[in-house]
Amino acid sequence: MRSTKQQEYYKQLRDDISVQCSKSADVNHGSVISWGWCKKCQHDQPPRCHHCIICRRCILKRDHHCYITGACIGLANQRHFVVMNFYIAVASVVGLYFIAAYLADEFVPLADPSDYVLPVTLYRGAFGTNWIQTHHVLMIIHIYTLWWTGFAAVGFFLWHVVIISVGRTTHEVRSGAKLRCTATVAENFRSVFGALWLLNFVFPAHIAFQQTSNGIHWDNIKASTVAISQSRDSGLRNL
Ligand SMILES: [Zn+2]
Ligand SMILES: [Zn+2]
Repeated sequence: MRSTKQQEYYKQLRDDISVQCSKSADVNHGSVISWGWCKKCQHDQPPRCHHCIICRRCILKRDHHCYITGACIGLANQRHFVVMNFYIAVASVVGLYFIAAYLADEFVPLADPSDYVLPVTLYRGAFGTNWIQTHHVLMIIHIYTLWWTGFAAVGFFLWHVVIISVGRTTHEVRSGAKLRCTATVAENFRSVFGALWLLNFVFPAHIAFQQTSNGIHWDNIKASTVAISQSRDSGLRNL
């Protein structure tokens, strides 16, 4: 249960949003996204906030639930998620390069093509030819894992760069939410990463540069009138 103070705070925010909505609907050919209500948490949901059944709480600007990190990716940690994927991708490529360079001397000249098939590698490493040693087997296993981690990290990284640049979330894309972002690409990146957003990829920039979005006000994200009426009918007002 929320305290009276919190209830008053959220009520004030909702009033602010309503005023903005009425002012901007005609001017911007779209409306500010309205607030919703979470039945499970029994409290108001700011626009773009969604409940996660795994985390059992509402997440501001929820993107998706990440099973690798065991947390929802949303307003507070999206910048860290993107940077994490960037470094996983870089580490995977670097790891693959050095393992391949080592095996090119130690393994490739003696290997049969079937030695690269993991079950065969494991069998021959344990019972087969003498020249396949334990570290060879571990490196072959590592090549397989690095391919997958690299592939997934590059995919997540590129996907988030794209959706951040257009001001969307994975949740909104999946649900087909009819939104229109009026911010520039640079503003969208600052919304997630803060000022000088590229610095996030070379040092922990969140210490110095806070993201510009507060997760409550989304002045640059508009919903069409049709989308709002549909979502009100279905009781899912915040897209
Ligand atoms: Zn909730
Ligand atoms: Zn979650």
